[in-house]
Amino acid sequence: MSEADCLFCKIVASEVPAKIVYETDRTLAFRDVNPQAPTHVLVIPKDHYRDAAALAAADHGLADEVIKTAHAVAQQEGIVEPGYRLVFNTGPGAGQTVFHVHGHVLGGRGLQWPPG
Ligand code: 5GP
Ligand code: ZN
Repeated sequence: MSEADCLFCKIVASEVPAKIVYETDRTLAFRDVNPQAPTHVLVIPKDHYRDAAALAAADHGLADEVIKTAHAVAQQEGIVEPGYRLVFNTGPGAGQTVFHVHGHVLGGRGLQWPPG
């Protein structure tokens, strides 16, 4: 399932280039073009859902797989210790700008909490 004019669907289709760091049959992880931390990777399902809630509501284990992929990326990047942040901005007021669900895997520096 893909959606016309969706930037991340175009990355899945190799129509827009991306630095891919990890891939499974149903998920893809690639570096954010504007990194906010030494590790800043976006993890997406290859199928199109507008946000995390829509993905979870589809109820077929794909949300689980996205989170497992995020952890595999963190392992590969060596940031499981001391820890990493996994963020799903949901809605424009929270800063979501691309409406193809994506988890931000952030780490490699001290991460303040609350994030501000
Ligand atoms: P959001 O603000 O929707 O949570 O996150 C969207 C993210 O996508 C931003 O961090 C932004 O830097 C990243 N981004 C936007 N356009 C591109 C692109 O063409 N390639 C990659 N790799 N990341 C992008
Ligand atoms: Zn999409």
